[in-house]
Amino acid sequence: MITRRVTFRLYPNRRQQDTLHYWRKMHCSLYNAAVYNRKTQYQKFGHSVGYLEQQNSLPAFKEVWTEYKPLGSHALQATLKRVDFAFVRFFKGLGKYPKFKASRRYSGWTYPDKQSWKAHTTGNNGDLELANLGSIQMRGKARMWGTPTTCTITYRNNRWYASITVQCTPTRETGSGAIGLDLGCKDAITLSTGEKIAKPDFIKEGQQKVKVASKKLRHKRAPNRNKKIKASRRWRKERQQVSSLQRKVARQRSDWLHQTTSSIVSSNSLVAGEQLNVRGMTRKGKKQKRQKAGLNRSILDVGFGMIGQMLEYKLAESSGFYVESPTKTLKPTQRCAKCWELTPKTLADRVHVCSNPACQHTEDRDVNAAQVNLIWASGKSGYQGRRSSPSAPRIFQDRGVERSSLGAEPPSSTLCASMKQLGALKRQKLALQRSKGE
Ligand SMILES: [Zn+2]
Repeated sequence: MITRRVTFRLYPNRRQQDTLHYWRKMHCSLYNAAVYNRKTQYQKFGHSVGYLEQQNSLPAFKEVWTEYKPLGSHALQATLKRVDFAFVRFFKGLGKYPKFKASRRYSGWTYPDKQSWKAHTTGNNGDLELANLGSIQMRGKARMWGTPTTCTITYRNNRWYASITVQCTPTRETGSGAIGLDLGCKDAITLSTGEKIAKPDFIKEGQQKVKVASKKLRHKRAPNRNKKIKASRRWRKERQQVSSLQRKVARQRSDWLHQTTSSIVSSNSLVAGEQLNVRGMTRKGKKQKRQKAGLNRSILDVGFGMIGQMLEYKLAESSGFYVESPTKTLKPTQRCAKCWELTPKTLADRVHVCSNPACQHTEDRDVNAAQVNLIWASGKSGYQGRRSSPSAPRIFQDRGVERSSLGAEPPSSTLCASMKQLGALKRQKLALQRSKGE
């Protein structure tokens, strides 16, 4: 069983829309109140407030502010949990001190369990039933459907969405082939078979349109808080135009990524890629700010970071493997796919000609790199490939998060436990009390 997230668009009627907005505002107020509570308690009394203390004060809080009752107690707890997550992030040194949030920009709320909501659907359109609100029409399609577990309501770009997590066992058809990949700026993806997948045109076209719209926006009256200038109506209109164009490009890009990766997975059960440090590659140079701009732009255009992630989970669904070669030690662009010798190259050298006099293997640079990745992955070179498995998520290895803190240890009061773990803890306690009472 894997957890998958499916997002549906909601179509609330006028009355439901008003209620949803009101609830979002109330969740935001609760969030801010919880942050304020932690802040002042510490500043004035030196007392650090934890999640459980805030959760236990909720019933008394609802007696005073009765308008919070229809929101569902577990949804309110989940909002307090968001505050807890923000503070734990801060204490770990991963983020800044939690800020107060504007209700205008507050995203939404979560139902952490199956209470207070029901999804009347089998993965293709349907209705969402919320307690104290009624049934809302929703549209969307899931590739796989199973048992719904949690539901998050979000509001963005003037639209309402329901993001539902589902427990399911996704499957995917795949062939028996094995293929190597090389990601580049000239052609987006080069396969070890010699096939090249070009960068799609819509990205450039979309960027051109965004550029034109942004220029128009610059000529309108922008808001300035210090000078107390309000944004003009034309500026606001044009800004909406810019953001809608940007969103369109983002949608097209993700669609292209999904189609390309799915087609690769459909005929190959072993895919060999390379480790990419996208953040390092796209970061601005310290002295020469424009130095890497070209490379940066084309990397972000295609969404290289996403390709690896998508291939990984899609291959896991088809019980195949995605292997990443260590780019720094393997050096796939410089290594020869035939004799395994290194030939130094610059970015401008487009053809690999082996410097080993006994070999002199000549091949397209990117195709050679893809072949090297494949050979490394299939273990022919004596190296051992790393299997892609759900137990070792790639992101944790990449970002250097210590894995010992992720699950192995039992949740302690100082550690930030998830809603699920908290529930289990509570049930454990209750069972203990019951056995003592008997
Ligand atoms: Zn060679």
